[in-house]
Amino acid sequence: MTASAEKFTRQTLLDVQPLTPSLFSLRTSRDSGFRFRSGQFARLGVTKADGSVVWRAYSMVSAPHDEHLDFFSIVVPGGEFTSELSRLREGDSLLIDRQAFGFLTLDRFVDGRDLWLLATGTGIAPFMSILQDFEAWERFESIKLVYSVREANELAYLDLIAGLEQRDYLAEYAGKLQFIPVVTREQHPGALNERITTLIENGELERAAGLELTPEHSRVMLCGNPQMIDDTRQALKQRGLNLSLSRRPGQVAVENYW
Ligand SMILES: Cc1cc2nc3c(=O)[nH]c(=O)nc-3n(C[C@H](O)[C@H](O)[C@H](O)COP(=O)(O)OP(=O)(O)OC[C@H]3O[C@@H](n4cnc5c(N)ncnc54)[C@H](O)[C@@H]3O)c2cc1C
Repeated sequence: MTASAEKFTRQTLLDVQPLTPSLFSLRTSRDSGFRFRSGQFARLGVTKADGSVVWRAYSMVSAPHDEHLDFFSIVVPGGEFTSELSRLREGDSLLIDRQAFGFLTLDRFVDGRDLWLLATGTGIAPFMSILQDFEAWERFESIKLVYSVREANELAYLDLIAGLEQRDYLAEYAGKLQFIPVVTREQHPGALNERITTLIENGELERAAGLELTPEHSRVMLCGNPQMIDDTRQALKQRGLNLSLSRRPGQVAVENYW
């Protein structure tokens, strides 16, 4: 098969930035034909020592208009894919699907006033892409980014988040975004301290946001840990917020990472 007929392209690793011993971000070159909507993922492939290729889904962190692709990764101890990925260095190559996939995109919602982005851990990735694109800022009156980690040093992209409203193309929307960090295993100044589900059930999240979660106005995206997603979906359901399906538009869209 010729390279152009294959379902993937070979890209170059341009930069690797460790955040903690088990989290790092990476930047790769981007095929000029690769298109995606913010919130989508692609499969990345790494070649093992025996020559076989392992594939895993990764959400794009970068915006659809960027020339490069950014990703954010965990290192799973003994993980088949991440053991290989975390060994790669600048200049090494990585395989990337030609096609992007996924439904954690804003077109899941036909309307809505307030956008809530709820992430645990590496689940922040698609929300970084969504926030670097202007559609969310244009469509919603307010955006609440809720990012839960166990320890404060696991909070990634803080500078990027803080700098979003200073970007030329987002400056007119300044004041729309509120960042609500959640750190569950230690006290951290400015962060809430319990699981997202608990914060919804006890009303603390809405108090911090100064906004209610309602079926009429709220549109909620959840990404990361499947247990958090299940529990949060249940908590939201009790408030009348349901999964958005193509046959029945709703208020909630989710992406499970495992
Ligand atoms: C649609 C989609 C998008 C994804 N996007 C990302 C992403 O942007 N960044 C990313 O790091 N991972 C992402 N993942 C998970 C990723 O595909 C792999 O599971 C991860 O790279 C680990 O691969 P592995 O072979 O090393 O371990 P695996 O054998 O795949 O996983 C082993 C175990 O590790 C745990 N685990 C897996 N992924 C994570 C994670 N991200 N955070 C915490 N624990 C985890 C789970 O308990 C899992 O059972 C995504 C998954 C899906 C389905």
